[in-house]
Amino acid sequence: MNEIYCQGCGAEIQTSHPEQPGYAPPSALEREDVICKRCFRLKHYNEVQDVPYNADDFLEMLHQISDTKGLIIQLVDIFDFNGSFISGLKRLTGNNPVILVGNKMDVLPKSVNHEKVKHWLKRSAKEQGLIVEDVFLISAEKNQGITNLSQAMDQYRKGGDVYVVGTTNVGKSTFINTLISNTSGEKDAITTSYFPGTTLGFIDIPLDENSSLFDTPGVIQRHQMAHYVSEQDLKVITPRREVKPKIYQLNEAQTLYFGGLARLDFESGSRTSFVCYFSNELHIHRTKLEKADDLYQNHLGELLVPPDSRTMEKLPPLKKQTFRIKEDKTDIVFSGLGWITVPEGHINVTVHVPEGVKVSLRESLI
Ligand code: GDP
Repeated sequence: MNEIYCQGCGAEIQTSHPEQPGYAPPSALEREDVICKRCFRLKHYNEVQDVPYNADDFLEMLHQISDTKGLIIQLVDIFDFNGSFISGLKRLTGNNPVILVGNKMDVLPKSVNHEKVKHWLKRSAKEQGLIVEDVFLISAEKNQGITNLSQAMDQYRKGGDVYVVGTTNVGKSTFINTLISNTSGEKDAITTSYFPGTTLGFIDIPLDENSSLFDTPGVIQRHQMAHYVSEQDLKVITPRREVKPKIYQLNEAQTLYFGGLARLDFESGSRTSFVCYFSNELHIHRTKLEKADDLYQNHLGELLVPPDSRTMEKLPPLKKQTFRIKEDKTDIVFSGLGWITVPEGHINVTVHVPEGVKVSLRESLI
């Protein structure tokens, strides 16, 4: 039997292991464009099935790129740089040039300075050992910034291949669909989903007679917030529209809870405002520091939601970390959730996030 690949995700079709990637019932093989059961369900019922996957296999697949020549487009989620950046990309892809693309710019508040975002992305990549040729901001879904990026792609690839890489859920499928529909008018050529882990193989999209754009597997990062929460909660914490800042004036010894997924304690400093940029649907709860632990013990999953009951089963315990904020206009970034802008420095805060979720400071983007 010739190997057949799923038209949706690119996984090799197999008919013997329903729990594994690429499974299709034997009857499906009679059709012309075979898609795996998982993509079938996604396409027709908008329902994603979990299949077990191995992060090492994905990285091994990406490593194949280092033996070839081509331009690498690394997509990251602007709201989750640390969760969506593939560390070790340099090692995985060899000396190929890399363009870094920040996706989901449509949810950035209008007040955000795009040049500052690009600068921050570039610097963050460099801190992780990756020098990039260029940085672009796009919205794959709203088709913003794609024309500029396409032009740069043609310039940098010099007639060669393009490899699009990214962790699951950064919007890689959406991006490629948009690219395809911009050039060919074809809609939804590749499966998209709400949930991580859809893109399971290399999909080959011809650019011209001699070169292709390859959609590579979505690498899974364990510390992505998306892996800790249920599908329902992911919808709550993922901004879908432009994020509206919520401002809290706090005194020392006050606490903010972001649902029950993160917490900020204002330890010391004079009264100041905390400008919170999170999904508009994520409820922020203010309390006194002295009551904060009790509130968590007694009301997690009720007053403090998300987490819902399914998330609570897998959510790691909160870990705390204290920061001295020295500079004015500093952002405290909760990877995968959002950020808080602190307009005035010289304060001490303690943040609590699920173990593995990264918190970092950056110069404010506003
Ligand atoms: P993949 O796993 O990287 O292939 O990601 P998908 O293309 O399946 O997208 C993951 C999620 O991000 C889906 O819920 C998309 O609707 C959403 N998404 C993708 N692109 C954008 C974008 O430009 N803006 C916003 N707000 N959401 C996006």
